[in-house]
Amino acid sequence: MPIPHLENVMPIAIRPEIVMARGAGSYLWDTEGRRYLDLVQGWAVNCLGHAPPRVAAALAEQARTLLNPSPSFYNPRYLDLAAAVARHTGLDHVFFTSTGAEANEGAIKLARKWGSMARQGAYQIITFVNAFHGRTLATMSASGKPGWDRLFEPKVAGFKKVPANDLQALRAAIDDDTVAVMLEPIQGEVGVIPISIDNLRAIRALTEERGILFIADEVQTGVGRTGTFLCVDHAGVRPDIVTLAKGLGGGVPIGALVARREVSVFAPGDQGGTYNGNPLVCAAALAVLEEVTAPGFLERVRENGAFLAEGLAVLSRRLGLGEVRGAGLLLALDLDAPRAEKVVALARERGLLVNAPRPQTLRFMPALNVSREELREAIAILESVLQDPASR
Ligand code: PMP
Repeated sequence: MPIPHLENVMPIAIRPEIVMARGAGSYLWDTEGRRYLDLVQGWAVNCLGHAPPRVAAALAEQARTLLNPSPSFYNPRYLDLAAAVARHTGLDHVFFTSTGAEANEGAIKLARKWGSMARQGAYQIITFVNAFHGRTLATMSASGKPGWDRLFEPKVAGFKKVPANDLQALRAAIDDDTVAVMLEPIQGEVGVIPISIDNLRAIRALTEERGILFIADEVQTGVGRTGTFLCVDHAGVRPDIVTLAKGLGGGVPIGALVARREVSVFAPGDQGGTYNGNPLVCAAALAVLEEVTAPGFLERVRENGAFLAEGLAVLSRRLGLGEVRGAGLLLALDLDAPRAEKVVALARERGLLVNAPRPQTLRFMPALNVSREELREAIAILESVLQDPASR
């Protein structure tokens, strides 16, 4: 059946001719009734899988109680969620956004304001080559995605890029104009490239020594994705500013800008937005956090992450593929040839959704509560696809 109303859809992405109708846990169903085992989960968003009952219940209850009293009043869900996010990040002040890009945009503004007050007007933010921080103008300018440097000119000024995992280049790039280093602890969009634990620690030490801010973009890695609440927790470092989104709402659009009290320098009016912190999205995020931070949950993420990584490593050895990278349930597998798009398409035909961030790399970001059985099923489908000549 042709897809209805496509003539009214702004063509901002190349999509397969599939309309997704329904989801439950690790599975999605399209309008034709076909079922897919989903290891993309809305781009690492649905940390509790599709349509999680606890989030659905929280949304229904909140929808009947209060949707939006306007951001000019406090609301109970915002207050409870701010306390929970502060506790789990080890930081103090929380501002809620609707997207990851908006949280990062807030982090950039906050760093610049802090620079104007505490660092004689320093404004430059050092980011990494291949970084992905979002699609607003400032966050595109902060990103290092190949090709973006020529899009939508002129860009927002004030970003300097250095290669990831190159401490010498980073050290050399810091000058009197520098106010912050902003990084993803694992660069997700470019193919799951981790900043090493040693480097995260060295960057924390270096930023402290030079009196500049350390901003961690944990939009993709945060809220348990890598097996700890924040990915930087693996290194035992505390950034000055952390941004969250994706997993925080479990599918509902909410992000967060979180800061240490000393750098939380916004004055009333500097930051805000109509939808920010409305009780509906905050109720969903509270339900997500209750589940993700329940005893044993993150331990299971680490165990299932190790199980999936081992399954991919076995596949890689057996079929002569490349490296397995990542942490927890954010993993990548390098292939033997630039055939990731073909593998993704064939896997989809066979009822498995995976993602190709690079021509030769597959990425896996299942629900954090995925079962061993589902992971076994995914690996079996993937093996049959990778062995099929049609995937070459
Ligand atoms: N930062 C990172 C690390 C991301 O992975 C993404 C989304 N892929 C963003 C920011 C942007 O988030 P959003 O799409 O919610 O604006």
